[in-house]
Amino acid sequence: MPATSRPAADLSAAPVAGLDAYRVPAEPYYRAVGDEVDLYEAAYSVRLPVMLKGPTGCGKTRFVEYMAWKLGRPLITVACNEDMTASDLVGRYLLDASGTRWQDGPLAMAARLGAICYLDEVVEARQDTTVAIHPLTDARRILPLEKKGEIIQAHPDFQLVISYNPGYQSLMKDLKQSTKQRFAALDFHYPEHEIEAEIVAHESGAGLDVAKNLVHIAERSRNLKGHGLDEGLSTRMLIYAGSLIAQGVAPLGACRMALVRPITDDPDMRDALDAAVTTYF
Ligand code: ADP
Repeated sequence: MPATSRPAADLSAAPVAGLDAYRVPAEPYYRAVGDEVDLYEAAYSVRLPVMLKGPTGCGKTRFVEYMAWKLGRPLITVACNEDMTASDLVGRYLLDASGTRWQDGPLAMAARLGAICYLDEVVEARQDTTVAIHPLTDARRILPLEKKGEIIQAHPDFQLVISYNPGYQSLMKDLKQSTKQRFAALDFHYPEHEIEAEIVAHESGAGLDVAKNLVHIAERSRNLKGHGLDEGLSTRMLIYAGSLIAQGVAPLGACRMALVRPITDDPDMRDALDAAVTTYF
């Protein structure tokens, strides 16, 4: 497990005494690919809400972990899903032996205590959750806890960050303009060949030559996006394959297991990807 992994915010857990559990303990490895670090710092300095846009597995989460470490802020990450409601983010009353007590959700906790709150794939969550974040993203920087009858004035250090994969969304499931227009955005792509190979080698422990071949295979798959594949192979998948190879698994088997099999069930597409793998291994 990478040194940067921390518990995701868990609503069923006992209230967290402070934000120490969410501090990024050591510098995460992040290979900058452009001016994103400077731009993010500028955005944070004026507490602009930031949207990280890009395909899955291309470095958005790692980037926000790195920025939280660099800025010395705790990071509360929430992986959004379709069952998530506003209460999951904001908080709710819980029943215990002594009656009911209020439990702040991760967003309320971050706003109260001054963390960076990262809502990963926010578009997956129900519409009411995106509406709940609106008052935090404008000049008011407030979070109304309607059920509790309290309005949290966000801590001066609080910042909201969301991620968004523009390729994924159907028209039914897109962020509304009224949400989009509350964020500054940074575009993320898979890094260019040499940099991606460097990242894959670093993270997987595979040699640079192996990593370069994996990136070649990924580039082939990315050309198939929209021609039978919904998404190309991500940097994350290349790291999985590299890790297997570094463990001594034969490259062909490693690539089948970590790259080809997970990404498609279509026999023709599997053949095409298998062919790309045998070109390079
Ligand atoms: P996303 O949040 O975009 O889905 P992640 O941030 O989880 O993707 O990236 C997947 C993995 O790829 C990370 O765990 C990290 O190992 C690696 N990675 C991708 N881009 C970079 C980068 N620029 N620097 C360091 N590691 C990276």
